Amino acid sequence: MQIILVSRHLKAARTITIMPRHLAIAGCAFITLVIATAAGLSSLSARSGAFGIGKGILAQEQETHRTQQHVNNNLQLMATRLGELQAQLLHLDTLGERLSALAGIKREAPPERRPQGGQGGAFVPAPPGAEELQREIDQLSRQVDLRTDELAVLESRFLEKRVRERLVPTTLPVREAYLGSPFGHRSDPILGQRAMHEGIDFNAEPGTPVVAAADGVVLAAAYQNDFGNMIELDHGDGLTTRYAHLARMNAKPGSLVKRGEVIGAVGSTGRTTGPHLHFEVRMLGVAQNPAHFLKQGEEYAMLRRR
Ligand SMILES: [Zn+2]
Repeated sequence: MQIILVSRHLKAARTITIMPRHLAIAGCAFITLVIATAAGLSSLSARSGAFGIGKGILAQEQETHRTQQHVNNNLQLMATRLGELQAQLLHLDTLGERLSALAGIKREAPPERRPQGGQGGAFVPAPPGAEELQREIDQLSRQVDLRTDELAVLESRFLEKRVRERLVPTTLPVREAYLGSPFGHRSDPILGQRAMHEGIDFNAEPGTPVVAAADGVVLAAAYQNDFGNMIELDHGDGLTTRYAHLARMNAKPGSLVKRGEVIGAVGSTGRTTGPHLHFEVRMLGVAQNPAHFLKQGEEYAMLRRR
C-alpha cells in the first residue's frame, strides 16, 4: 500500500510505502491504547468506589463521635445531679442536727456512707460509668427522701414542744416579790381554821406589775367577793391560771395575752389581810400546786433565794 503525503509548506509530496509490518505495529499500538484507556477508566472507577467507601467510614466515625459526645454529656449531667444530691443530703443532715438539738430530741445517727476507695492498695480514681452513677443517684435520692421525712417529724415535735412550753405557766406572775403562803392545807389567815390554800401567795408592794405566766386567752376579769379583782387565763388543754386581789386589771375577757405581758397590779382587794398576789393553776378546774409549774421556769429559783 502506498500513501502520498503532500506538505503545504514544502509544496512537495512524499510517498510513504506502508508495509504489512507497519500495519501490524499500528494495530498493536491501537490495541495497547485501547487496553490502556480501559485500564485507566477502570482504575478511575475503582478509585471513585474507594472514595464512596471512605465517605461511609467517615460518616460512621462522625456518628460514633456524636454518640460518644451524647454519652459524655449524659454522664456529665448525672455527675452534676449526684453532686447536687450529695450537697442536699449534707444540708439536710446539718438541718436535722440543729433541729433535734433545738427540740432536745436525740436523733439516730445517720447511716455510714459507704467507702469510696478500693479495698487495699492505692485507690486509683476511674471515671464512673453510667450504671454506677445511676446506682449512686438512686441511693442518694432514697437517703434524701428519708431525711426529709425525718425532718418533718422533727419539725412537728419541735413545734409541739414550743407550743407546749409557751402554754405552760412557768413565768413568775410577779417578779418583785417573795414567797408568802404556799399551796396546800394551812390555817385560814382570817378565820384561823384549817383550810385548803388552792394557790400560792406572792407578797409584794401594792401596784407591782402582775404578768401572765404563759400565753393564753383572758377567760374572766372581774371583781369577786373572796378574790377581789381577779383575772383568769385559759392556756388550753384544760389548763387555767388565776391572779387575785389585784389593785387594777389590764386585761379584757376574750383578748389574747402573751407570756410576761402585764395584766394588772398587786393589790389587796377582796378577802385579804394585806397586799399580795394570790396565784392559782388549775387543771380541768382542779387546783394544782403552782410551784410545780413555776419550777420549770428559770425565774422561780431566783425568787426562792430572796
Ligand atoms: Zn392565797
